[in-house]
Amino acid sequence: MAGDSPDVVIVGSGMGGATLAAGLAPGGARITILERGDYIPDDAPARDPNRVFRNSAFRSDETWLDADGRRFEPGNYYQVGGNSKLYGAVLIRYRAEDFAEMAHAEGVSPAWPFAYDELAPWYDRAEALYRVRGAGDEDPTEPARDGPYPYPPVPDEPAVAAVRARLRARGLHPFSLPLGIDLERWLAAGQTGWDGFPDTRCGKQDAENCGLAAALAHPNVELVTRAQATGLELTPDGKRVAAVVYRRDGAEHRLVPAIVAVCAGAVQSAALLLRAGAANASDQVGRCFMNHNASALIAIDPRFRNDSIYQKTFGINDWYLSDGDGGPPLGNMQLLGRVLPDILHAQAPGLTRPVAGWISRHAIDAYAISEDLPDPASRVVLRGGEIQLLWRRSNMQAHRGLVGKIRNAFRAAGFPLVLTRLFDGRVPSHQCGTLRIGKDPASSVLDPECRSWDHANLFVTDAGALPTSAAVNPALTIAALALRASATIAQELGG
Ligand SMILES: Cc1cc2nc3c(=O)[nH]c(=O)nc-3n(C[C@H](O)[C@H](O)[C@H](O)COP(=O)(O)OP(=O)(O)OC[C@H]3O[C@@H](n4cnc5c(N)ncnc54)[C@H](O)[C@@H]3O)c2cc1C
Repeated sequence: MAGDSPDVVIVGSGMGGATLAAGLAPGGARITILERGDYIPDDAPARDPNRVFRNSAFRSDETWLDADGRRFEPGNYYQVGGNSKLYGAVLIRYRAEDFAEMAHAEGVSPAWPFAYDELAPWYDRAEALYRVRGAGDEDPTEPARDGPYPYPPVPDEPAVAAVRARLRARGLHPFSLPLGIDLERWLAAGQTGWDGFPDTRCGKQDAENCGLAAALAHPNVELVTRAQATGLELTPDGKRVAAVVYRRDGAEHRLVPAIVAVCAGAVQSAALLLRAGAANASDQVGRCFMNHNASALIAIDPRFRNDSIYQKTFGINDWYLSDGDGGPPLGNMQLLGRVLPDILHAQAPGLTRPVAGWISRHAIDAYAISEDLPDPASRVVLRGGEIQLLWRRSNMQAHRGLVGKIRNAFRAAGFPLVLTRLFDGRVPSHQCGTLRIGKDPASSVLDPECRSWDHANLFVTDAGALPTSAAVNPALTIAALALRASATIAQELGG
């Protein structure tokens, strides 16, 4: 393939890019994936909580600007497989109701351009590709599905099963989280959880091990690492993207494919399009940046002994569609990976190590997620060529309500002390929505097939395309959208 341009250039090998490549590869199109990062080395200190959580060893040293123009290091990861290499592997569908307009305490979550039923078959395929493990019949909000999950759920460890039983006894409906993890392989490589720990090809069902592996099994697909897309050139009439420009090892290269798919992540894809002056007739590029309102909760019971290793096996959606008292939705709760003493100490240096150790031994750790509503003033912009993130949180009333409900549930279940902390804006883990799909070219960047309204051969199939953030983890929905778009692109290529 070297020398001449491929049929398709995909920018980014994360959840959106790798999955798109997997969808397109069997059709025979010549595909080049440009990835700015490299493979995480096999011998990386990937299970050392100090290296991972205190020293942020796997983050790049890139900085962005906040709303006040101050520099910060975002919790954003650049390597083969993208952010999915560190993800918690919760591969959950948006609920069917998330595709319709939903009234929240402080605004409206708008309808998608299509209903859940349209994406359901692509969710099926995404779950097969990412070998999702789940139960299907435990969560009252589980959307209709065509058959069981590909694999049975990850079992609770005994301490976690005891907490699940305590919450169920309070009338709640804990459900097994849909997860992409080969548990035996993961634990054989190190006795830690997987949430936030990088995978060195040892069992996480992520973009590298699933989407990319499926794509690269075809001879018509190549991955170019350390290749950072720096520009897009438009045709003279502006109707198409003519070329993708990238830098590798200090040299500039140019590819002239038939189709360009930008999948660099919601923030980086928006930045690339803003720099190129592309896809922005609507002035929507970078707008409606969303990131979940998320908090960590540490529920402590001095009599409880947490000897679990991975912990992250159940969630609760009892306050997802309503607050439980007929009020507006609040969001999702799911367990976090175990907050080990070193992790707690890194996050709260004021705690002495013995205190952090005691808390960790007697606590269960949870994650509260509430929907962030789309707001055109919440946006990614370029300032002097640098990325500036002007995130305006929304819907915090719902989030405070959710944290309160979870706190009360844990107290009622015998955990008298519940510590909480809101994740701040420097952690854009669930970033989405800067390049939204929609029905109206005046208020969206992409059509419902993830194609730019302005340039017929430009697609975006990463988190940027999501029109709403819902209140569940985004990766499976990104994958389903990418697979759906791959069918459109294959048709375009005559496949
Ligand atoms: C710690 C953590 C835990 C998470 N847990 C979960 C979870 O349990 N479940 C879930 O659903 N989601 C989770 N997420 C979020 C999930 O990882 C992301 O939603 C998902 O990876 C986004 O996919 P994407 O394709 O938009 O971007 P990414 O997966 O980040 O991929 C973008 C890729 O583009 C590359 N790139 C960027 N700029 C360029 C450029 N100019 N040229 C070439 N390449 C470029 C990047 O290096 C990267 O590989 C988590 C994220 C983090 C950080």
